[in-house]
Amino acid sequence: MSALTKVVLSERDMPTHWYNISADLPAAGITLPPPLHPGTGQPIGPADLAPLFPMALIEQEVSTERYIEIPDEVQDIYKLWRPTPLYRAYHWEKALGTPAKIYYKYEGTSPAGSHKPNTAVPQAYYNKEAGVKRLTTETGAGQWGSALSFACQMFGIECKVYMVKVSYEQKPYRKLMMQTWGATVVPSPSNQTHAGRTILAATPDSTGSLGIAISEAVEEAATRDDTKYALGSVLNHVLLHQTVIGQESIKQLEMIGADWPDVIVACAGGGSNFGGFAFPFIRENIVGGRHARIVAVEPAAAPSLTRGVYAYDFGDTAQTTPLLKMHTLGHDFVPAPIHAGGLRYHGMSAQISALKEAGLIEAVNVQQRAIFDAALSFTRAEGILPAPEPSHAIWQTMQEALKCKESGESKTIVFNLCGHGHFDLGAYEAYLNNKLEDFDYPTEALQKSLDHLPKVA
Ligand SMILES: *Cc1c(COP(=O)(O)O)cnc(C)c1O
Repeated sequence: MSALTKVVLSERDMPTHWYNISADLPAAGITLPPPLHPGTGQPIGPADLAPLFPMALIEQEVSTERYIEIPDEVQDIYKLWRPTPLYRAYHWEKALGTPAKIYYKYEGTSPAGSHKPNTAVPQAYYNKEAGVKRLTTETGAGQWGSALSFACQMFGIECKVYMVKVSYEQKPYRKLMMQTWGATVVPSPSNQTHAGRTILAATPDSTGSLGIAISEAVEEAATRDDTKYALGSVLNHVLLHQTVIGQESIKQLEMIGADWPDVIVACAGGGSNFGGFAFPFIRENIVGGRHARIVAVEPAAAPSLTRGVYAYDFGDTAQTTPLLKMHTLGHDFVPAPIHAGGLRYHGMSAQISALKEAGLIEAVNVQQRAIFDAALSFTRAEGILPAPEPSHAIWQTMQEALKCKESGESKTIVFNLCGHGHFDLGAYEAYLNNKLEDFDYPTEALQKSLDHLPKVA
């Protein structure tokens, strides 16, 4: 019998709990700095977050419980696409001529085509349980907006999405996907919020940014009793929900008889697919006596982990969110228009930032032409057409595999293929026609943004 190419778990093998890395950070000598109130600079309590999130999610945000049970209603919806497959990349290994063993976890089989429904579904569920009627959110490229639209539809909640205007105009299919699932989609900046009107008054032709769209969505949730807000990345509870990815992967690697990984790779925008995939492996590094290298990959145009500072900053442009201690490029950072829309955020998860600061993970950045070179190499061998975001992880995996080719080592490399690129064919068109540009973030512009960081005692 020939060797297995993919491991497909049964629904009965699905994780029943999410893994909370906050329980194991003390064993690594890490204390997470608390979020601070944007006005007073004092640590915030659950009551400060109550206008935006239901209490169940606030409790998860601050929990130090190691395992948190996944409600049956959430598991039932996860079963529409979970467990997701894990593949051995035999064809790509052969094309690269590497002795490395490459595996990838594929999250593109979800209804929205990425890992994002893993958190959208529980967020909609806990809001529904708390009697919430409407959710607002922001979306850049549209992946989070489509995931939340789908999840809200499953629980009969209204969904309003502020979509960054440039994407609203350039990505009509993502918008239509959200509308098909019943959501209302508004280009941001809009005239429906104070934050949007302020931006439009100053810059009428603003094409928007994630930071502005967050300000609009937060404002609407904070000013309406029937409405709360949902965030698709960055926060602890979001990364918690995503840990189904890493837990399944560990089980699948065991089932396919893989060696324990030498290297774990994922792309990082706000950190949710990276955290969800890597945290269960990091736990094994902290308490299980394992030594996998854990590598986050980000774009050279938005290099928060590699070139940002570790400091308290706002999550949004209008300076309304709590301050998080994180690797940041500054809340008024405006990224170059790279195609990996999901990786253009100025900040990073506080948990991931603390792990980076403590030396438990590595980070690298890469230009967009290089990631499309890697995406082409991968899709021509494995068939799956990756989104530009996970193509950052594919690029890093390729570097590791080519190093193995030189050294003759047969390392085990596992990466997270967090979404397909079926809505990103415009980016592939630009690449194939040699029209893609590389962007470095200029040091002067970065310094200017960093000069505007909030002053914290
Ligand atoms: C949203 C998204 C990202 C970036 O967000 P993270 O929270 O860093 O995972 C990356 N890849 C895909 C496919 C996405 O949809």
